[in-house]
Amino acid sequence: MSAWRLSTRFLSLLLVSAFGSLAYGAAPAYYALGDFESVDKIDAHVHLHGVADRFMAQAMRDNFRILTINVDYPDFPPIPEQEAAAKSLVKRYPGRVAFVATFSVEHFRDPAWASTELKHLETELADGAVGVKMWKNIGMDLKDADGRYVMPDDARLNPILAMLERERVVLLGHQAEPLNCWLPEDQMTVRSDQEYFSKHPQYYMYRHPEMPSHDSILAARDRMLAAHPALRFDAVHLASLEWDVDRLAAFLDHFPTAQVDLAARMVHLQYQATRNHDKVRRFLIRYADRILYGSDDSYGPDEANSGAVAEVHSEWRRDWQFLVTSDVMRSPDFTASFRGLRLPRDVVDKLYRGNAEALFTAAWSLEEARPAVPR
Ligand SMILES: [Zn+2]
Repeated sequence: MSAWRLSTRFLSLLLVSAFGSLAYGAAPAYYALGDFESVDKIDAHVHLHGVADRFMAQAMRDNFRILTINVDYPDFPPIPEQEAAAKSLVKRYPGRVAFVATFSVEHFRDPAWASTELKHLETELADGAVGVKMWKNIGMDLKDADGRYVMPDDARLNPILAMLERERVVLLGHQAEPLNCWLPEDQMTVRSDQEYFSKHPQYYMYRHPEMPSHDSILAARDRMLAAHPALRFDAVHLASLEWDVDRLAAFLDHFPTAQVDLAARMVHLQYQATRNHDKVRRFLIRYADRILYGSDDSYGPDEANSGAVAEVHSEWRRDWQFLVTSDVMRSPDFTASFRGLRLPRDVVDKLYRGNAEALFTAAWSLEEARPAVPR
């Protein structure tokens, strides 16, 4: 009898809580792995070249909107080709794709460089670019006639930075590289860096003490930001402070208009999560308004390899698993296992959508899809 009473009481409690949450429409506090396809997401850091229809089909199946970023990178197609591909994607996939323009430093030493590139960027912005990318060649490759490296706080960049600041256009800055690039191989944290830098000694800064240090490049980047306090800045690749969430927190505290993206650096958070899981989780929750999801996938111009999109899909899903679940996971990059961060749903929504929408206010507009009003 008393057991029956207890169980009816338990049942009515259950019913009350079920109806209560229905009445308030309360969503569960966490997503699951299986929610991956149904949640509207933005990948705010990819590089699409060529027609990229296969990539876009996968993005639509996985419910991603895309920010494709043009870069002054010799391994990518020439900048005009990147621009044509990006604008075509925006037109063919209205509301799905937005793009970021870039500038070339080929004629940087020419006194007319800034005015030429300003005109070029004005055209790109008029054509729909929602930001401008500055690449790591500034600080690591571009040199003056006397052999000195041009750093991010170089005065010749000021006309461009001033325009972006005035027009409230986002600057996406990739300065320096992961800290591993400046460390001896046995001190590198992740295998992919060890492999990459042993195969590409020319990019391995540890072997090039004559080149700028990691600290000096980031110090110049920070002086550039200090000189343009209203500049809206997306410090991609976790601001090149990927190895320490405390350093990242200090950067975000120091520059209140800056954001960071996770592109190609999730592995460094996973590595930190092997030892300091809760600290990494607390960082992402505390700075939930300042962090954008991005993969750094490069795709095209060749569509021949169907394996490429399968890889993109599985990486996207793996990132989701790390951020959303508490699954025990492993990485090919290091030995120790780590647990997923199981971030609250509202944090996941900000990382995957809200922050990118707030930063790139003109992006993913459906305007292009609507027929023009006849005059
Ligand atoms: Zn990138």
